[in-house]
Amino acid sequence: MKSFDSIDLFAPLKKALKQLKYEIPTPIQAQTIPPAIDGIDILGCAQTGTGKTAAFALPILDFLGHEEPPVKSKRPVSLILAPTRELAIQISQSFAEYGKHMRFSQALVYGGVSQGKQIAALKRGVDVLIATPGRLCDLMQQGHISLDSVEIFVLDEADRMLDMGFLPDLRKIMAALPKKRQSLFFSATLPPKSRQLAKELLFNPVSINVTPESPSVERIEQKVVLLEKAKKFGYLDEVLSGKSVDRTIVFTRTKRGANQVAKKLNGVGIRAVAIHGNKSQNARERALAEFRRKKVTVLVATDVAARGIDIDGVSHVINYDMPVEAESYVHRIGRTGRAGAEGIAISLCTPTEKEELLAIEKFIEQRLECDEPFGPIRFVNAPKKKQGGSRSRGGSRGRNNRKGRSGASASGSKPTRNSSAKRRSQKSRRKPAAAR
Ligand code: AMP
Repeated sequence: MKSFDSIDLFAPLKKALKQLKYEIPTPIQAQTIPPAIDGIDILGCAQTGTGKTAAFALPILDFLGHEEPPVKSKRPVSLILAPTRELAIQISQSFAEYGKHMRFSQALVYGGVSQGKQIAALKRGVDVLIATPGRLCDLMQQGHISLDSVEIFVLDEADRMLDMGFLPDLRKIMAALPKKRQSLFFSATLPPKSRQLAKELLFNPVSINVTPESPSVERIEQKVVLLEKAKKFGYLDEVLSGKSVDRTIVFTRTKRGANQVAKKLNGVGIRAVAIHGNKSQNARERALAEFRRKKVTVLVATDVAARGIDIDGVSHVINYDMPVEAESYVHRIGRTGRAGAEGIAISLCTPTEKEELLAIEKFIEQRLECDEPFGPIRFVNAPKKKQGGSRSRGGSRGRNNRKGRSGASASGSKPTRNSSAKRRSQKSRRKPAAAR
């Protein structure tokens, strides 16, 4: 595997990467960064935990470092859209880390807090704007921001954005972007709706799919515990009292469930905090900070709230309730086993959750090891093995999807090559994008 030294990155970025002890690019970084710094559009199928933040942040910072585009009031040079505030904040922190030896400005725009500071930051002008779709649309409508100077646009966790109902906002945002731009699209999975969105957004993209061989998920030891509902909490308590348990994320299906489990855990002396959409922005940030500092060792979360949580050293993920959508299983267990560490994922499955278990096994094309610590469970001794790979993930390996691209933009017209690529291709240090 090549090191970061072999990638032609702006020197201050390399210095920061050294300090962060990033030596070898992860697969998504190795495949994304070189074409992205050449100004080429990217269709990346990768989940959180694979290093995708650096895969898009480094090319953007490289562009800012080399090109030094002028900072204009209300007109960001690059835009990163993320589905949740938590993810937006984490992306912003990553930009700050990677870009700490260079001059650039960034701002965050998300809902749930007052607009004042966000508007002031936009007015001063920023190189990098990281935003959630709803608040960005509000600020666009009010005239506090224009996207007509965006050179590089990143859509992160596109599948989750669609699940969260952001499509109308995404369309407004895409329509406001200039036609000459570079777009980077990342999605953990590529169901037809995401694929369609990618098609509208991207022009001749390089397709990268690292999901099937995601090293983080492979390192995770997965186990299913078959038990009656009444035994769930006792079992959870037992697991969390074990010596090897460090930081744990417990997933529940509902917000109410998350509150109840957190309360019961605190009742038995295990420091836990719930994180879900009903909590205020401050409460969610406080919960994450406490979890990071190990003031609490258990985070009890719902799927949406936990999406994009970027905390290393999560030893266990426990599915207190089986995920309703099979895809969420992969997102959930991906919270552990990050950055090369090993992790354990335990799913508590009651007789009524059999269907969910079967759907997960079919989705991941793998039979999960089942344990019955309280004796045989009526519904099944061993879940039925999946039938064929009808729902294999991704499937966009290779570059076939670059053929026959319509090239239609969100507004219906054909986008032209982006200006950043053109400028970069003029420089001898970069291979002209057109010569690929
Ligand atoms: P991400 O998928 O961007 O959320 O990154 C997952 C974790 O991997 C984060 O904690 C990053 O700091 C870490 N990471 C990303 N790239 C590398 C790398 N090349 N070497 C070591 N750690 C990395």
